Amino acid sequence: MSDLVLVLNSGSSSIKYQLLHADTAEVLASGLVEKIGETQGGRITHECGDRELVHDGPIPDHRAGLRQAFEMFRETGLDLTTVGVGAVGHRVVHGGEVFWEPTLITDDVVRTIRELSVLAPLHNPANVIGIESTRELLPGIPQVAVFDTGFFHSLPEAARTYAIDAKVAAAHGIRKYGFHGTSHQYVSEKAAEFLGRPSSELNQIVFHLGNGASASAIAGGVAIDTTMGLTPLEGLVMGTRPGDLDPGIMPHLIHVAGLDLKQVEQLLNRDSGIKGLSGVNDFRELQQLIDGGDAAAELAYDVYIHRLRRYLGAYLVELGAVDDIVFTAGVGENSAAVRADALAGLSGFGIEIDPARNETRAPGVRRISPDGARVAVLVVPTNEELAIARAANDLVTAS
Ligand code: ADP
Repeated sequence: MSDLVLVLNSGSSSIKYQLLHADTAEVLASGLVEKIGETQGGRITHECGDRELVHDGPIPDHRAGLRQAFEMFRETGLDLTTVGVGAVGHRVVHGGEVFWEPTLITDDVVRTIRELSVLAPLHNPANVIGIESTRELLPGIPQVAVFDTGFFHSLPEAARTYAIDAKVAAAHGIRKYGFHGTSHQYVSEKAAEFLGRPSSELNQIVFHLGNGASASAIAGGVAIDTTMGLTPLEGLVMGTRPGDLDPGIMPHLIHVAGLDLKQVEQLLNRDSGIKGLSGVNDFRELQQLIDGGDAAAELAYDVYIHRLRRYLGAYLVELGAVDDIVFTAGVGENSAAVRADALAGLSGFGIEIDPARNETRAPGVRRISPDGARVAVLVVPTNEELAIARAANDLVTAS
């Protein structure tokens, strides 16, 4: 049985893909299809070893984009129909209350993922298009859906329940689901491996800080709380999303500020967070503005850190004691300042950072707390593609 897996992350206007060996993590090829359905700027960037192929031109839809990407695989000597792909793993954002384990895709499964679009209107429809196109282009290869919500299926009732009219919540599936689950699970397992202890013995706090950002509290390998909710808007301050807000702001925006629903959605998904406060959403640009003395950028940074610390405090209490704190994703892996500021002044809780270790870049998992500190603070590079590939490969091999 081949451990070669094609992993696809199909978004509304882009598709990220990777062909890799699930066993060894060796990546044979990877790429990005951008600006699908737009009249200008369509581009496919395909990397295979040290070769990079670029295709510029309009990409009318996902199917056309994938077809072209598969052609680029062929050009670099990897015909996906004959090279021995054992499974295709799809990142699917929302599994609702139906799916949490990696799931072999059938017509029924596709139908249900489509129905779950009410819970993730920006994501699930694009995931379905990616799945349908791949099933057409690679018939006969088993396809597996891996759900971003899956790891948080275990949230205790008190953590996942919103205190609104229970009948309304039940009728419309309104509860905390959580997202980035594949990453939280992957890095927490990697951290346990690094510490040489089973996950089942550890209390862990994970900060996944990318463009989207979320934190989780994990007890004995099981998630007991997370910051994202019914949608990926709740919780931490993100690149363009606000995280937690007073719910009363929504009617205020409509009745007092005069925004319509579409404008509110635009505000919450695209024009808030770091971008809303500072004008830029990329953390490196934010840092440059701060270095230049920009007061709005400084405030954005302070709000971001304040929110991280608020959840750190909450999760310390929920867990009672914590063995390790993990930072991952673009900001978490790269910004020494964010890590230092998020954990400053907490030695009373056994949480300390070694400044030299924190500033030193190195590949792989690394400890940034001093030796002997009560709480291990780790930087763990996330690898959602590998986690999806392994989940897909495990399922296909077992069935
Ligand atoms: P996503 O997968 O959610 O799109 P990533 O995990 O790639 O996001 O993270 C993107 C974020 O990481 C951006 O805000 C980017 O500025 C930030 N980032 C990347 N490299 C660095 C760095 N060297 N220092 C600070 N931030 C960085």
